[in-house]
Amino acid sequence: MELRIDSLTSNYGKTHFVSTGTVNWVILQSSAGVTLIDGGYPGHAPAVLESLRRIGAGPEQIRAALLTHAHVDHLGGLVRLREQYQFDVYADPKEVAHARREYLEQADAAGLAPIAWQPRVLRWLSQIIPLGALNKAGIDDATEFTGLSHLPGRPVAIPTPGHTRGHSAFLVADGEAVVSGDALISGHPITSRHGPQCLGPIFTHDPERNAETLEAIAVTEAQLLLPGHGDLWEGPVRAAVNQALSRR
Ligand SMILES: [Zn+2]
Repeated sequence: MELRIDSLTSNYGKTHFVSTGTVNWVILQSSAGVTLIDGGYPGHAPAVLESLRRIGAGPEQIRAALLTHAHVDHLGGLVRLREQYQFDVYADPKEVAHARREYLEQADAAGLAPIAWQPRVLRWLSQIIPLGALNKAGIDDATEFTGLSHLPGRPVAIPTPGHTRGHSAFLVADGEAVVSGDALISGHPITSRHGPQCLGPIFTHDPERNAETLEAIAVTEAQLLLPGHGDLWEGPVRAAVNQALSRR
C-alpha cells in the first residue's frame, strides 16, 4: 500500500500527515508519546502501524486516539488496533453514540445507488470494500473528550457538525494546521476535482450545517489544511473554506 507521510515541527512536537490515496490520518508526536487522529479503514490497521514505525514510534506509545467522526474509513483501523493494543478513543460528545454504533449515520448501498454506475465510483468501491468498508463494528467504550491539552501534540477540538452530527476538526501544530476530517476535504477518489471542497450530499448528514460550521475552521487562521481525504493543502484555511463554499 502506498503510504505518504508529510511532517512538520512545531513547539508542541511533530505533526505527521499520513495519506493512503483513499483516506488520511494524522499522528501527533512528542516526547510523551503519540496521539492518533483517525485510523483509516479496518484494513488500514497494518498501515497505521507502518506509519508509526516510519516516524520512529510504536503502538505502545499511543496515548489516545481522537475521532474526527465515526465513519468506517476513519474509525475502522482503530477498532482493529484496539484488538491488540490498549488506548483510549475520544470523540465529540455528540459523536460518541455514533462511535459506539448505537446508530449508523453513513451512506449505505441504497444511498450510493444513484452514482454507483460511474467508473470512478466503481473503482473506488473495488478499493474500499476489500479494506472493510462494509464493516459495522464500533468502539463500545469510546468516550467524549473534554480537555485535550494533556495529550501529545496538544490538539484543540473545533466542533464542526454537519458531515456527521458530532463531527470535530482539530487545531494542531501550535495553531499552524487544522485537521479538518471530512468537513472540508481537498480531493476524493470519486471526483476529478482537486482543491478545497465539501463532500457531496450523499456522504454528508447535513450539508447546510456543514457549510455553516466551516467558519469555525476559517477563524483559526491556520496556514495548513490536513483533510480526511485528498492532499495536504497549504495556504490560509480561510481561503480553503471560501473556495469550498464557492464550489458547492
Ligand atoms: Zn471519510
